[in-house]
Amino acid sequence: MVKEISTHTIWELLKTIPDPEIPAISIVDLGIVRKVYFEETTLYITVTPTYSGCPAMSFMKDEIIRHLELQGITNCQINTSLAPAWTTDWMSDEVKTKLKEAGIAPPSAEINCPQCDSKKVQVVSEFGSTACKALYKCLDCLEPFHHFKPI
Ligand SMILES: [Zn+2]
Repeated sequence: MVKEISTHTIWELLKTIPDPEIPAISIVDLGIVRKVYFEETTLYITVTPTYSGCPAMSFMKDEIIRHLELQGITNCQINTSLAPAWTTDWMSDEVKTKLKEAGIAPPSAEINCPQCDSKKVQVVSEFGSTACKALYKCLDCLEPFHHFKPI
């Protein structure tokens, strides 16, 4: 039964799983899903965690398993690959646009306010709501926003 499901279908399914920390983007957008393949009747998914020790990682694995089970796919093996290390370069420009629309400054050396594009921004805290994001404040529109730290 599992063999009738293509890896393309699996990728499409994974694209519907939101990142627990930034629901505007999916775990595929985030770039953590590296490989999807079948061996015999087992589905293998290779994921690379974003920041080491990111507490969201085990939650994401559980989410993947839960979504697959809803489709009747129970023989799934999730492997974690640490090399090459995840980098924000794996995010596409499309994803960076989605982040900006969600009010989060995308990872880049130059930080602009996602609301008004002002370059006059000030860091409030290097550690925002999560370790991956820093809290900034725009000195023009005075809106606080998160910056996804580039790594
Ligand atoms: Zn602004």
